[in-house]
Amino acid sequence: MSNSFSRRKFMMSAAVAGGSALLPQGLLANAFQDPVVNTVEEKGKSVSREKIPWKVRPFPMKQVRLGEGPCKQAMEADRRYLHSLPPDRLLHTFRINAGLPSTAQPLGGWEAPDCELRGHYAGGHYLSAAALMYASTGDDELKANANTVVAELAKCQDALKSGYLSAFSIEFFDRLRERQRVWAPFYTIHKIMAGNLDMYARCGNAQALEVAEKMAQWTVGYTQSMSYDHMQRVLGTEYGGMGESLCNLYAVTGKEEYLEVAQRFDKKVFFDPLAAHRDELKGLHVNTHIPQVIAAARYYELTGNRRCRDIAEYFFEEVVSERSYCTGGTCCAYNMMKLARHLFGWSADPRLVDYYERAMFNHRLGTINPEDGTMMYYLPLASGYWKTFGKPFDSLWCCTGTGSEEYGKLTDTIYFHDDDSLYVNLFVDSNWTGQKRGYG
Ligand SMILES: [Zn+2]
Repeated sequence: MSNSFSRRKFMMSAAVAGGSALLPQGLLANAFQDPVVNTVEEKGKSVSREKIPWKVRPFPMKQVRLGEGPCKQAMEADRRYLHSLPPDRLLHTFRINAGLPSTAQPLGGWEAPDCELRGHYAGGHYLSAAALMYASTGDDELKANANTVVAELAKCQDALKSGYLSAFSIEFFDRLRERQRVWAPFYTIHKIMAGNLDMYARCGNAQALEVAEKMAQWTVGYTQSMSYDHMQRVLGTEYGGMGESLCNLYAVTGKEEYLEVAQRFDKKVFFDPLAAHRDELKGLHVNTHIPQVIAAARYYELTGNRRCRDIAEYFFEEVVSERSYCTGGTCCAYNMMKLARHLFGWSADPRLVDYYERAMFNHRLGTINPEDGTMMYYLPLASGYWKTFGKPFDSLWCCTGTGSEEYGKLTDTIYFHDDDSLYVNLFVDSNWTGQKRGYG
């Protein structure tokens, strides 16, 4: 890419012809990386624990607002859907599991009282989605609902003692340790931890950070009770982005033990070939593994560990060039876009946001029902096929969760910047509303 006007990069002179072209001093240092937790305020000072130089960064989501169009339609449908979920129904299985009273009508689908993933949406994706939606829209009522959920989850956590927080019995983790049949307990724990972290990072909810930290402390104890080899066997069961959330918890607290326990979730048989640039991906369930690579990306950002960068870049390249249909899958596309966003921050390679753009417009935008905000589980490509959307209260699949988050964070990747240039990554009707002098 040349330094002159190009498709994605507008040099300052082009972007603000005739206007003031100086970036505010210290903007890079104070920027808050979304959705990555990057810079935190500590005692009135901005602290970043990242060890790598960013080529480009996004603007804070609250500075970007969508204009009219299909993206805003999707966002508003998602927002209406999030408003339709009553906190008491979301909290029902958490309260029952904690021995607290609840008379609310249970949700169905993957949140049903007998589903082993219950809680993944109600105490996890929901909080992330509400926090992201708040960052994108300033919706105070939604933030208040999510704050209620955090406060009530904290009561459940206290009742359960030990820091454990889930809508299912801790006995699931015995089964996991003993390698008995169980769906994916850590996958669910990750969603709840990430949801609380998002509530802290986007909504300033300090109690949510406490909840996430207690969960992490419980995780330290659980994982330390096993040998390395035993833990590697446990990693044979899907565990979502545990490593990513633990890295982010280190990023906001500076507590090294979270970074250490994050590494307990590095699956050796998956990472070693990637680090050696060997494609042994055949037969692996893709969406189980993409979040593990996002964790490696985050670990690289916080430590400068080059091996983790290699893992992330090689994996992305292989999946995109060798193994993806043009549209990807639903949750898979969500996670691959998230990974692409990290990689773009390191390299500013326009191919990455080209990928992001294709996945967004060819795939993701078609998977939400703009009438009621329900999501598809997968996007069928067969000719003559029809779209199937979930039911508002009785599906709550993984894709409901990633979709609820996706359409709440459409503002996070449209614009990036470096010291003197603005990058327009997505042609979406939108405004950057930053008040400081600069891109204008
Ligand atoms: Zn899914």
